[in-house]
Formats: sequence, C-alpha cells, structure tokens
Amino acid sequence: MINRKIPGGYVTDWRHFEFVPGILPAMASLAELGVPVIVISNQACVGKGLLSRRLLSGMTQRFTRFVREGGGRIDAVYYCPHTAESGCGCRKPRPGMLERAARDFAIDLRASVFVGDSPTDVEAAAAVGCASIVLLGQEDSVDAYPPGCAFVRSAGDLPEAVVNALRSRTRESLPAHTGGCTS
Ligand SMILES: [Zn+2]
Repeated sequence: MINRKIPGGYVTDWRHFEFVPGILPAMASLAELGVPVIVISNQACVGKGLLSRRLLSGMTQRFTRFVREGGGRIDAVYYCPHTAESGCGCRKPRPGMLERAARDFAIDLRASVFVGDSPTDVEAAAAVGCASIVLLGQEDSVDAYPPGCAFVRSAGDLPEAVVNALRSRTRESLPAHTGGCTS
C-alpha cells in the first residue's frame, strides 16, 4: 500500500513506482508511534524472472530513502519472491512473513496492526491474530473483504486508524511489543 498498484502488472522498474498520495506524511506520523514499521510484500515477479533481486533491492533502497526523507521510518522489508504455484509458506495470504517479522523483532502480532490493500493481506493478518486496516483504492469495494475489517479511503486517515487499532488491541492482550506492518 506504499505504492500504487499497477492494474494486472508488476512494478519492475522505478519509473513505474508511484507513491500512494499522502503516504509519506502518513509514514512520518506512524514513525512517531514508537513501534516497528515493517513492510511485507509479495513479489512473484522475482520468481517469474521479471525482476532481479538486485533491481528489487535497488527499488527498496529508493523508497526507503524517500520515506526517511519524509520523516518516516521503515525498520525492515520482507519479500516473498515465490510464485503462487510454488506453494511456499511466505506468500500472502499465508502468514510466513508476518511470523518471521514477529520473531525477528519480538513483536506480539495479536497486539499489532497490518495495513494492507488487498483481501490477501487481511487473510494473512487474520491467520496470526493481527488486526487489519485496509487502505481502499478509489474503485475498490468493501464487499471483497470479510466482515470486521477496518477501512480508510485515504492515506491521511491511516495514522489515526492505526492508533485506534493499536489501542484497542493492547487493551485486549497483555501489553507487549507491538508492531505496525504494511503491505
Ligand atoms: Zn514465498
């Protein structure tokens, strides 16, 4: 949800990487919450040979730098490079990357929030008891999502939604290290 989706395609070139409007100031607000900010993303284009790991790493450095220059922070980025056919445990909707981030950062997923932009994000989060907030695109319908999801229509509304979700989460579970994850 950091960059705009390309209909039916993959972002395999920095020229096609376009930040979601308002996401950089939103990331700056999230950075102030003092929780790990972790990016979790499917990149089947790597497994399909459409994007090299070197280029993906270059794009990662670039968007991370933009976020940092905007006052935000990304503590880690996890990618699943596999194709849907590979049956790996990390490709969302499977929760392997969330579990790995939780181990690496000692995060309590039940006290964390996953911000996504697709039903597979919500599914991955639900599988490990993590709350979801969906950043809906202009043409996206809430009908594609299971009940109980929280939605925002613009990135500017994300920080408040994340704060509210983290608050209600930490009330439910024991205080623990929480994390904010983004897809
Ligand atoms: Zn994978």
